[in-house]
Amino acid sequence: MKIVCIGRNYTDHIKELKNERPEEPVVFIKPDSAVLPNGQDFYIPGFSNEVHYEVEVLVKIKKVGKHIEEKFAPNYYDEIGLGIDFTARDLQAKLKEKGLPWEKAKGFDGAAVVGKWLPKSNFKDLNNLNFSLYKNGNEVQKGNTSLMLWKIDALVSYVSTFFMLKKGDVIFTGTPAGVGKIQANDYLSGRIEGQELFSIKIK
Ligand code: ZN
Repeated sequence: MKIVCIGRNYTDHIKELKNERPEEPVVFIKPDSAVLPNGQDFYIPGFSNEVHYEVEVLVKIKKVGKHIEEKFAPNYYDEIGLGIDFTARDLQAKLKEKGLPWEKAKGFDGAAVVGKWLPKSNFKDLNNLNFSLYKNGNEVQKGNTSLMLWKIDALVSYVSTFFMLKKGDVIFTGTPAGVGKIQANDYLSGRIEGQELFSIKIK
C-alpha cells in the first residue's frame, strides 16, 4: 500500500505556517514503512528536535482506479479514519529552504498513525465531520471537513490523475490549525464525531 498525503488543505493551517495558498492540492507520499504499527508507542527520532503532530481525516481506497472522475470517487472508498501525519518540522524547514524533497521529514518510520476505520455510512455528511486531537487530555487541534479547500471526492479524483490508486491505499487529507510539538511522555488521542479512533504514547 501507499500513503498519499495532502498538504495545505485548510486555510487556518496555511496561515499558521505562513505558506502560500496553493492553486492546486499539494501532494506527497509516505512509504508503507512509515505506518506506526497498531498499539505501538511512537519514538521521537534522533534526527529531530521538533516533531509536530498533524491530525488528519483518512480515506481508505477499496479498489484500483486511475483518472477517477470526481462524481464517481465515492465508488472507490467505503471507510473513513483518523490519523497523524508526524512531521520533523525542523528538518522539513531546512529541506524547504533548499527546495529539496520533504520525504525525510515526513516519511520516516512511525510517521503515519492510522487509527481505527469506520464505514462511511456511519456519517450523514462526509463534508461536515468534526474531528479533534487531544494531547494529555487537552484539545489541541479541532477541524471540520467542511473547511477543506479540496473535499474528499475532489482529492481522490485529483490524486488518481497522477498515481494509480490501489486497494488499501490511504489518503491523508490535510491538517487544520493547531499543529504543535510533541515531547516524551505525551499522550495523544484522536476523535471523529466524538468517537476515539486512536491513542498513542510518545517515547
Ligand atoms: Zn499533513
